[in-house]
Amino acid sequence: MACRRRLCCKDYTVGWVCALPVELAAAQEMLDEQHENVPHDVDDTNIYTLGQIGEHNVVIACLPEGQMGANPAAAVALQMKAAFKSIRFGLMVGVGGGVPSEEADIRLGDVVISRPHIAHGGVVQYDIGKVTPRGVEQTGFLNTPPTILLTAIANLQANHVRQRCRLLEYFSNLNGLPAFAREDTGPDILFKAGYNHAGGADCGQCSKEGVVARQSRRQDVVVHYGTIASGNWVMRDADERDRTSMELGGVLCFEMEAAGLMNNFPCLVIRGICDYADSHKNKKWQAYAAGTAAACAKEVLSVIPTTEVAKSPTADDIITEQHRQYSNSAALKAYSVDDAAEDHRQYSQFATLNGHSHWVWSVAFSPDGKLLASGSRDTTVRLWDAAKGLALQTLEGHSHPVHSVAFSPDGKLLASGSGGGTIRLWDAAADWTPQTLRCHSDLVRSVTFSPDSKLLASGSEDGTVRLWGTAAGSVLRTLKGHSDTVRSVAFSPDGKLLASGSGDGTVRFWDVAEGSALRTLEGHLDLVRSVAFSPDGKLLASSSADMTVRFWDAAARSALQTLKGHSGIVHSVAFSPDGKLLASSSGDRTVRLWDTAARSVLQTLKGYSHPVHSVAFSPVGRMLASGSLNGKVKLWNTAAG
Ligand SMILES: [Zn+2]
Repeated sequence: MACRRRLCCKDYTVGWVCALPVELAAAQEMLDEQHENVPHDVDDTNIYTLGQIGEHNVVIACLPEGQMGANPAAAVALQMKAAFKSIRFGLMVGVGGGVPSEEADIRLGDVVISRPHIAHGGVVQYDIGKVTPRGVEQTGFLNTPPTILLTAIANLQANHVRQRCRLLEYFSNLNGLPAFAREDTGPDILFKAGYNHAGGADCGQCSKEGVVARQSRRQDVVVHYGTIASGNWVMRDADERDRTSMELGGVLCFEMEAAGLMNNFPCLVIRGICDYADSHKNKKWQAYAAGTAAACAKEVLSVIPTTEVAKSPTADDIITEQHRQYSNSAALKAYSVDDAAEDHRQYSQFATLNGHSHWVWSVAFSPDGKLLASGSRDTTVRLWDAAKGLALQTLEGHSHPVHSVAFSPDGKLLASGSGGGTIRLWDAAADWTPQTLRCHSDLVRSVTFSPDSKLLASGSEDGTVRLWGTAAGSVLRTLKGHSDTVRSVAFSPDGKLLASGSGDGTVRFWDVAEGSALRTLEGHLDLVRSVAFSPDGKLLASSSADMTVRFWDAAARSALQTLKGHSGIVHSVAFSPDGKLLASSSGDRTVRLWDTAARSVLQTLKGYSHPVHSVAFSPVGRMLASGSLNGKVKLWNTAAG
């Protein structure tokens, strides 16, 4: 490297971003030739490594030491793009946590490449955060990589089918470096999702009983193509990993930076798997996995002809065009209507409420319709001006995620159910001063008030339903019978019955006065997420992870009909105040409005980037609110009704 060449900024067409020093080292080792640095803007805080891989001139930059996540990644990409204006596309290359499943036999050291899906560009942001320096308005919407990269994926896959993989050949660039040696990584052990790390720096104390038996595999490194989930915190819980993956329709890998890049920088995300995103996570495989990812990135570049790169638009042009297209399509999507019945009211989106920093589990209107409350995984309850769509107040105090919110029918109290078995009753007359109710031994999934506001019912992960007197804040009855978590509770309009939906797949009816079990409704094929009585008390609707909504005859307590149509878990159901509509919100990122009498879909509300967890009608039915896993609340309204 005695006399390195010096090129001009405009000669560089590929941007390579990594997050960790070990990833930077692997990237630098992939260069066939390193170039002399070129002078750049004094305000640019990036340090660039310039060089050549095959025929491509490549700029490499790493996030500042100790910084992780979408914001630093976006900052690095934006500066890089400003300094090297001829960059056509980017590669985000580094390590990630794998999601092994029946479908994908992911091993440590394997590589995952983001591949677009019908619903997204290959990367899904599964939480909300400050994603780009431009603000949060595009959160959840992540661009699809440009055609040149999609073509490259196709060619790479073809090469691998033909066993012309060059990954290990490129990996051999690292062979002289002990840090990247496979021999030092230790064994590749996958533990069952339910088995947590016993403690210590490695899994020496973890039981062999917890290990998933897997057959050994011939290939050292397999490249997988699919969805990468990007979030602002480290995923280190196997149950949550699997749950989130399921919600998002199956993901292969968790990481923290891609969400910051996708909307600023047309790019492909390439992740070497260094752990299984569970509690057993350690750093032993990090360097090796950084190496396989870097070698894979080099292989991707090897299938892209430089002539094609020269012809393709610059990164900036692509982003500008994608933003233009998105603003058009988003407007259309939000207003699109399926199977519209002419004589029926239609709901249109009129506001998106930003503020929660994490998933919104629950939404509820106050009885006068003026307030909307939302409960979030960020541990807060927020109050919004429903008519104006403005933030009013944040109620803090819970130390766990808030799963459920409900106003008392007299408007005096707001209840919130949270982790740690805690319920808070917020007093409207005392500027929402809370009273804390504790009795459940596990998180409270659902809270609801009786029609006379005198009782509060709560359903918990501990499998019980409790009835509380709201005046004294004490437990009156504990209803036991479900063999799994209680996900949802609802009072009948006359207050005499309580229905509960459970993780055991059943709905139970209870006599409120007696505190006794009346009948168990079976039929759902998976856990019941939500129950709701129609305003006339004649129907009970239930929604389930089996992707259906069921109607039950509340008096006969028998099954009436199953509504199919959602392609994901149906998280929540709510009747309109006149009982004519049922709204259902789903993991398929839609809310459906069903005609209660005809039991057919009237309208599908679209435009969601994430699963929709909760839906509620305003007291006169003019408005509909929904809470979604992107941390936002959407408000819809109708001119009629
Ligand atoms: Zn362990």
